[in-house]
Amino acid sequence: MSVSARRVGQARLEVIVADITTLRVDAIVNAANSSLLGGGGVDGAIHRAAGPDLVAECRMLHGCKTGDAKITKGYRLQAKHVIHVVGPVWNGGSLGEADLLASCYRRSLELCRKHRLASVAFPSISTGVYRFPADQAAGIAVAAVVEALTATPDLTNVIFCCFSPESGRLHEEAMATSGSPCS
Ligand code: ADP
Repeated sequence: MSVSARRVGQARLEVIVADITTLRVDAIVNAANSSLLGGGGVDGAIHRAAGPDLVAECRMLHGCKTGDAKITKGYRLQAKHVIHVVGPVWNGGSLGEADLLASCYRRSLELCRKHRLASVAFPSISTGVYRFPADQAAGIAVAAVVEALTATPDLTNVIFCCFSPESGRLHEEAMATSGSPCS
């Protein structure tokens, strides 16, 4: 379900409510943990849908730091690639959580640029088990993507793939302040 869309420069930014594992895009982003060896939530769903070859490739990456991103193939997914990021665990907000969350989005877009990807879908990183307040996270997600888009000219479609209508509403609100409406 598409909630809303806006244009920012060359790119269409879209908010949808969906299961990210079903999307046919160049890359879906995985809210992983630092081991990159699978976990619960969206991470578990992505690994289940991609099949065992994904964890085999992840094993060769030797983990990932909080705020950073690493890319693999998508295997059985419709998506060609998976960008694995490690979001911050929310600890009250004074431990650099906002910067680390923004860094996940920035680093993902850097990988999109490097691999010349045209479309990418993000889940709402850190807002599940890692307990980042969903409203703040939505604002950070949209702002970080909008800021980094100018340096990512090949990227024409960015999807915020929310898992609940409430999360969709928060991202829609965050998007309302950036770019111009598009159909
Ligand atoms: P984190 O550990 O980064 O908090 P979670 O997987 O627990 O990661 O949650 C991150 C977000 O992903 C939450 O908003 C959760 O509702 C959402 N989510 C869980 N499963 C899916 C899925 N299949 N597709 C899209 N989003 C999902």
